[in-house]
Amino acid sequence: MSLLIDSFGRQHRDLRVSLTDRCNLRCSYCMPHDFSQWLPGEHLLSTDELMTVIEVAVDHGITGIRLTGGEPLLRPDVVDIVARIAALPTPPRIALTTNGLRLPALARPLREAGLERVNISLDTLDPERFRRLTYRDRHADVLAGIAAAQNAGLLPVKVNAVLMRDINEDEAVPMLRHALASGWSLRFIEQMPLDAQGTWDRSAMVTADDIFAMLSEQFDLAALPTRGSAPAEEFLVDGGPATVGIIASVSKPFCAACDRLRLTADGQVRNCLFAQDETDVRAVLRDPALEESSRRARVAELLGLSVRAKLPGHGINDPGFLQPARPMSAIGG
Ligand code: SAM
Repeated sequence: MSLLIDSFGRQHRDLRVSLTDRCNLRCSYCMPHDFSQWLPGEHLLSTDELMTVIEVAVDHGITGIRLTGGEPLLRPDVVDIVARIAALPTPPRIALTTNGLRLPALARPLREAGLERVNISLDTLDPERFRRLTYRDRHADVLAGIAAAQNAGLLPVKVNAVLMRDINEDEAVPMLRHALASGWSLRFIEQMPLDAQGTWDRSAMVTADDIFAMLSEQFDLAALPTRGSAPAEEFLVDGGPATVGIIASVSKPFCAACDRLRLTADGQVRNCLFAQDETDVRAVLRDPALEESSRRARVAELLGLSVRAKLPGHGINDPGFLQPARPMSAIGG
């Protein structure tokens, strides 16, 4: 089987699968509170359809699957999906990115089904600020979700925070202190131009350098060597063993080592978060004229085409950069 290698020699090993574009929070940097442009239900891939893509991808060298969304835990059969991926003949590593709200009920079944790691998004330690940022009064539920993930053994639990100027940038140090005390592996992510409103403003972005400077005032940070294709630059905090990560997607892109491919909930393959083009696998998955083996061969061909069309970088810093038409919630973060 051919591997998914692009024209710059990058072998793709990581597939991010969006299980739904729906979410139970309304993070202001992701979608407006009255967002209603959901993907049409009939366009969403069934579980059999998305398993076909995952199986073909694994046959072509994908070794890690990350389930995301929207909010992946809103998909009613998410535990079954994890179990089906874990039961593949060559099972990939399975991770999930979530807001954590449904983890108190699902962390243990997910772990038992084969989930290995979880990233939980939380941008503030302040419940009132959380309500303003997400339009939902659910801060305590996220904390309960993080605890549930820890209790279920999904360790280390990674907590991802986006810092924004004049909104929560003052929380860099308190969040790291809290993370150290609670056993969270904390990572800060630069805000990217992926909001549905198109209001991202570079000058308002809290950069990786800003975050490093704020943390360095209170902690001794030592850069860890090799990060491979991982998006976060990791630092040992106060001599370790705890670490903190900073994901500088905008100010220090790491595209040269990118090994990621994405499948949207409506069956489009994207070779970059910021790609302008998508490759439609849904039509092939639903083509009644295709027999199963031809369908799989065609899906493999489309994955290869998408990978080979990948650009060297996301281009956010180019003068002609255009934000993708889909918001993050409909791509799969
Ligand atoms: N609902 C899940 C969650 O909250 O983690 C998964 C999907 S969410 C789109 C995945 C991640 O993308 C979250 O950590 C969120 O903070 C991040 N995100 C969303 N919009 C972003 C943006 N414009 N810039 C940077 N990160 C963003």
